[in-house]
Amino acid sequence: MRLLLNALLTTMATSRVGRVGIIGGGVGGCSAAKTISNALGSAVEVTVYEIGRGPGGRAATRRTREFPTLHVNHGAPTAQIVTEEGRKAIEAAGGEEVKGGHGTLNSSTGEFQEEEEGGWLFVGEGGVMGNLAASLIEGTGANVKTKYNSMVRGLERAANGDDGSWILRNGAGEILGEADWLVVAGSGVAHPRWTATFGNEPPLVEAAKALGDSQLDSSLKAIASQTASPVIAVFFVLSGSEAQRWLDLPFKVAKIEGNEVLGKVMIQRTGEEGYEVAVVLHSSRAFAETNKGVYGSTSSAKRVGGAKSDKGKEDELNAMMLEALAEIPQIPEVPMTCKYGPVLHRWGNAFVVGEGLSRENSMCRDAKVAFCGDYVETDAPLSSIECALLAGKQTGEAIVKEIKGGA
Ligand SMILES: Cc1cc2nc3c(=O)[nH]c(=O)nc-3n(C[C@H](O)[C@H](O)[C@H](O)COP(=O)(O)OP(=O)(O)OC[C@H]3O[C@@H](n4cnc5c(N)ncnc54)[C@H](O)[C@@H]3O)c2cc1C
Repeated sequence: MRLLLNALLTTMATSRVGRVGIIGGGVGGCSAAKTISNALGSAVEVTVYEIGRGPGGRAATRRTREFPTLHVNHGAPTAQIVTEEGRKAIEAAGGEEVKGGHGTLNSSTGEFQEEEEGGWLFVGEGGVMGNLAASLIEGTGANVKTKYNSMVRGLERAANGDDGSWILRNGAGEILGEADWLVVAGSGVAHPRWTATFGNEPPLVEAAKALGDSQLDSSLKAIASQTASPVIAVFFVLSGSEAQRWLDLPFKVAKIEGNEVLGKVMIQRTGEEGYEVAVVLHSSRAFAETNKGVYGSTSSAKRVGGAKSDKGKEDELNAMMLEALAEIPQIPEVPMTCKYGPVLHRWGNAFVVGEGLSRENSMCRDAKVAFCGDYVETDAPLSSIECALLAGKQTGEAIVKEIKGGA
C-alpha cells in the first residue's frame, strides 16, 4: 500500500497535481503549509501570500532597519497551550516552555499577583514569537514558496474549461499567482470588515457570487457572523539603568486590572546590547474600540494595504497610554526620550468573537476553498495560537486527503 502511495506521489511530482495558494503567513497558514508539504513533498506546489515583511501575523515580532538585531513581540506575548496535540504542534514549531512572571497587576495599588493558568505557556524559540511561524515555514521543502509584501486584493476562479484555477491578484489587478486549492488563513478576504477598511467587497465574497456554490456561501455566512475585538499596542525600548528598573519588577506579562486604558503590560529582554528591554503595552478593548482609524504609521495595513492612519491622533493615543501606565504605583518612569519608540500598532482584529467556523464549513470541496486559522473550530480555545496551529494542521490534512483522492 505504502509502495503504491509512493509510486503515486512520484507520478504526481512529475505531472503537477496540486498547487495550493495560502492567503496569510500567520501561524495558521504556516502550519497548513508545513502539513501539506510534509505529506505530499514535491507533488504539490504551495505558495504563501503575506502582506507583512515576513511570517507571523498576530504572533509576529516587530523588527526595524534602525536597530537591525532588535526584536519586539508586539502581538501575542505567549501561547497558552491546553491540549496534548497543541503541545506537540508548538514543540514542532520550535516553541519553548516558560514559567513564572505571569499574572495580574492591580492598577490602583501596583501589586502583582502571580497566576498559574491551566496548561502550559510557550514562547517562540529564543523568546521571539515570530519564530513560531518562521520555523514552520523553514521546516518545509523547496516546494513551499513565500511571497511577502504581497496583499491579495482580488480573487476569481477560472471557468472549469480553463482548468478551474483560482487566480490571485494584487491591488493593481496584476496576477500574483494561481492555485488549484485556496486556503484562507487570514479571514480578512472573506469578512465584511474588509469593506470598512478598503471600501470594496471582500475578494472571496465577490468571487463566490460568480460561483454559486452553496457550501462556500454557507461558510462565508458563518464567517460574516464572527466579529473581532481590537487592541492598540504601544511599545518602547530602554537600555542601561532605565532598562534595569523594569527588569527588577516581579513580572514579565501582567494583565492590568481596573484600568480603562490599559489591558496588559509585557517586559521583554531583547538580549541586545544598547537596547536591552522592550516594554509593550496592550490597550483595553474599550479603549481600542473608542479610538478607531489609527493603524500605526509603520504598520503593514498602511504600508501595503494603503489603509489611512491619522498621525496626529497616533501621537495622542501614544501619550494617553503612557500616561495611564505612569499612574500605576511601582511602575518606573518612562523617560521622555526612549532608545526606540514609542511605536503604535493597531490590531484591528486581535481576538475573534463569536462561534468558530465549524470543521464542516472549513472545507468547500467543490469550490476548492479551505479555511484555517484561529477562527476555525478545533479542540483548542478560539482565537489562540494553539487554535491557529491545530486549524492549520486540520485543514492541511483535509487538503492532502482531497489531493490524494483526486489524483
Ligand atoms: C495583541 C494581541 C495579543 C494576543 N495575545 C495572545 C495570547 O496571549 N495567547 C494566544 O494564544 N494568542 C494571543 N493572541 C492571538 C494570536 O496571536 C492569534 O490567535 C494567532 O496568532 C492567529 O494566527 P492566525 O494564523 O490564525 O492569524 P494571523 O496571525 O492573523 O495570520 C493571518 C495572516 O494573514 C495575512 N493576511 C490577511 N489578509 C491578507 C491578504 N489579503 N493578503 C495576504 N495576506 C493577508 C495577515 O497579514 C496575517 O499575517 C493575541 C493577539 C493579539 C493581536
